Amino acid sequence: MENLHDPRPHFVLVPLVAQGHMIPLLDLARLLAERGARVSFITTPVNADRIRNIIDRVMEESRLPIQFVELPIPSAEAGLPDGCENFDLLPSEDYVAAMFAAPKLLRGPLELYLQAQKPGPTCMIADFCNPWTMEVASKLGIPRVIFHGPSCFYLLSAYNIALHKIYEHITDEFEPFLVPDLPHQVEINLAQAFGWALRPESQKFNNEMLEAASTADGIVINSFDDLEPWFIESYKKAKGKNVWTIGPLCLYNKDFGNKAMRGNKASIDEDVVMKWLDSMEPGSVIYVGFGSLARARPLQLIEIGCGLEASNRPFVWVIKEVEMSPEVEKWMSEGFEERTSSRGLIIRGWAPQMVILSHSAIGGFLTHCGWNSALEAIAAGVPLITWPQFADQFLNEKLLVDVLGIGVPVGVKVPVTHLSEDSDPVMVRRDDIVNAVSRLMDGEEGEQRKMKVMELQQKAAKAMEEGGSTYENMANLIRYCREHGSKGI
Ligand code: UDP
Repeated sequence: MENLHDPRPHFVLVPLVAQGHMIPLLDLARLLAERGARVSFITTPVNADRIRNIIDRVMEESRLPIQFVELPIPSAEAGLPDGCENFDLLPSEDYVAAMFAAPKLLRGPLELYLQAQKPGPTCMIADFCNPWTMEVASKLGIPRVIFHGPSCFYLLSAYNIALHKIYEHITDEFEPFLVPDLPHQVEINLAQAFGWALRPESQKFNNEMLEAASTADGIVINSFDDLEPWFIESYKKAKGKNVWTIGPLCLYNKDFGNKAMRGNKASIDEDVVMKWLDSMEPGSVIYVGFGSLARARPLQLIEIGCGLEASNRPFVWVIKEVEMSPEVEKWMSEGFEERTSSRGLIIRGWAPQMVILSHSAIGGFLTHCGWNSALEAIAAGVPLITWPQFADQFLNEKLLVDVLGIGVPVGVKVPVTHLSEDSDPVMVRRDDIVNAVSRLMDGEEGEQRKMKVMELQQKAAKAMEEGGSTYENMANLIRYCREHGSKGI
């Protein structure tokens, strides 16, 4: 790989250590490499191990010029349990701040690695939540582009709320208000819009992220122009800097192998899932999965199960290993699994989500509204039942339900963080699930929703093709970094 006269631009990608941030950046790494760039993808040993199959594929089969750089997080120094290198491994809420701060300890090793590269890096793409990368890029004299995980709708809403100083006027975090300066009536409250970010202990880190974003050379966003055009244009105007929409990144994964390996090793054989889905009617199955972080408490899981059973539809239900308490196992084994065995597939652990969503048997997705999951559903033409929990998810719900018209809300109003123990143990009742499933799948309204999401699916595919907006924006991003980046030697 080392070639002093290598004319290719060299991108350094620094994701946040959370699945919802690493997965799209890994897609971006491969897209950049296929489009003629060299990439250094910064990761940690635990996270690299999860994607070992993809790394092997990149190195041995596709031979893309990507270097996976494994920098260990010194857990003791970071105040984290040994091996805790990802947000989904946090044992409790007490460690959230330490997890956000920990990657900063990679600064020295990252600088050493980058200084040793010949030719050196041309440009850095760093997650918005990695503000410490600002000093690294400035020391190396290379442009730094921020990667934003959420939708432009969310980013613009957050921007407008801050611009109008809503925090100063509203002291009750549950008081509803309309997001200013939007063409739609979007009612939200501060707890839903920002959750943990409003806590006093988050302020210092928030300010660091905002400062790093304000000094960045540009912004890349995992969205596409035809999905939320008004919001993208308005966000560009608001920011006054380069904004490249380069999604949906999930569509990089065209073949079955790439889809199946995404993010982690699946805890079920993909062929078993395919065979099961093949045996179901097209558009009949509800897929239930809440991303990588959201955790349901035992009583809530049981309520979801009862709702799925009462809906009388086939379902694929993903339950995380950490959620599988003896209470839930007991309830499952005492009749639930047997009663639903002909129409229910339960995945305990990591699901091959893209394989599932892309199957024609899937007719709806009960989701926590993580932006990747939302985009994956759109890219697969699957309408959604929305059950937001924290971060950008409540505003994503507004986009999916009120603006795009492709979702049905399950009805949650109160945010919960993924590790919170003090929330109501049952936020959503079985009847809410039955009603939402029936609204999603039945009648004229259901048909219209399906048609809308299929139109967006086509637009998403088109954006990725040569001449499409994402394709062109990728070219523009690479060109910008070539022109403005370090010459590298
Ligand atoms: N995912 C998956 N299998 C799982 C859980 C999650 O493949 O069992 C993937 C999902 O396809 C998505 C990502 O993990 O790409 C989760 O990101 P999202 O933004 O939806 O939610 P987050 O995990 O950040 O809350």
